[in-house]
Amino acid sequence: PEPNDRLSVFLKTGIYQFEGSKAVFIDPVRILTRSYTRFRVSPSAYYSRFFNSIADHSTETHNNCSGNLKKRKRNKKKEKSHNLNSREQIADQRHQEVRSMLLKAHEALLKSSELLEIVKNLRNVGCDEERHETDVISQDSELDFVEVGSVWQAPLYEITLNFHKDEMMVKNAGFPPSQFCKQRVVPVFNNLVANEESSDMVAEFLNCRYIVPKKSCFYMSDLGKIHNLIPAESDRGFNLIVIDPPWENSSAHQKLKYRTLPNRHFLSLPIKQLTHTAGSLVALWVTNREKLRSFVENELFPKWGVKYAATFYWLKVKSDGLLISELDLFHHRPYECVILGYCHREDMNSQHPLRLNHVPDDQVFISVPGDYSRKPPIGELLLEYVPGFRPARCIELFSREMIAGWTSWGNEPLHFQDLRYFLRD
Ligand code: SAM
Repeated sequence: PEPNDRLSVFLKTGIYQFEGSKAVFIDPVRILTRSYTRFRVSPSAYYSRFFNSIADHSTETHNNCSGNLKKRKRNKKKEKSHNLNSREQIADQRHQEVRSMLLKAHEALLKSSELLEIVKNLRNVGCDEERHETDVISQDSELDFVEVGSVWQAPLYEITLNFHKDEMMVKNAGFPPSQFCKQRVVPVFNNLVANEESSDMVAEFLNCRYIVPKKSCFYMSDLGKIHNLIPAESDRGFNLIVIDPPWENSSAHQKLKYRTLPNRHFLSLPIKQLTHTAGSLVALWVTNREKLRSFVENELFPKWGVKYAATFYWLKVKSDGLLISELDLFHHRPYECVILGYCHREDMNSQHPLRLNHVPDDQVFISVPGDYSRKPPIGELLLEYVPGFRPARCIELFSREMIAGWTSWGNEPLHFQDLRYFLRD
């Protein structure tokens, strides 16, 4: 397509395909918004970092700039004097292998001047009048589901699901509306909570409101209960399994955000049992630590029964299109990796052969990051490699948000469903 067509596709879908390149630029706000019928994702709430609004420019940004500069200088000094140990050398080699491909993808973005103009304003798209409502709400603190879920009363906590009244009436036309309750109250923890309707649903829990997209469900529990998601019949299993585990790392900031788990806990994830008879594509987010990469390749994937297929890269840029950190900074790479692999079941139905769409290696997707550790929604970019029939059955493990048509599991899958992250459409 011509550049203009590419731009109009981007404005509609949130996905921009660069010319002559495998790389894409994505706007998670536009992609996620397609899950909703009466709401949209608030760009200002999503893009909480890497955009400098006029208001905080003078104070926060200024301080950050000088702070960052000092830190960067320090890091550079450290890196120069630092001799890489053998593990770091392997990591560096991996980096050197993908470096030019990442630079090429970044160049494609820097050359797309019309796209860059839009990227600059991603945070401000149509959020003038509607902002007030969510701004007021966002002053309350967010619910800590992990804390609430760990008290003895947790099994008694319920969530109220408010189904869209008009739609219920239309659906049940001819019957007196009073016969149909538009509210349902169900346990919020250790329970599969579903919105089977084709429009969003507003759910209430402990004075907070959450937007649940059409045709989606969540199961909020600790890892110990994940086996409850294993379907009784294997043809109810999943074709796409996206996993973003709480890997241990040394970041103090991360420690404040969510609890992490030692690697051995992930070995017991029932990936094969969650897989559909037609097989599944498994997409695992990893950090750049070499120890973790070799754990995944040598222990985790073999234990899960997953065969390695390819690695994709998420390159992170700021609103001006520049990388969030220097590409060669050893401990602060401006990219993260998703390792892809296929899982087959022993009882695989020969009528459902694996789709043979070959997964290319080294696909790059570029975006401006949202909240700390929030990953861009890449499910759609993976669909062409997903085995089985359409629509594919998709699940995200350790999820903090929901997507139309998907199942979300984790100990806080409602986190980014809080009304504060949305605007009314
Ligand atoms: N992909 C998510 C996103 O884009 O926002 C981020 C996931 S974050 C890396 C890992 C998640 O795993 C956190 O929400 C954390 O609370 C959750 N988690 C940590 N320990 C858990 C446990 N024992 N059981 C279930 N979830 C857990």
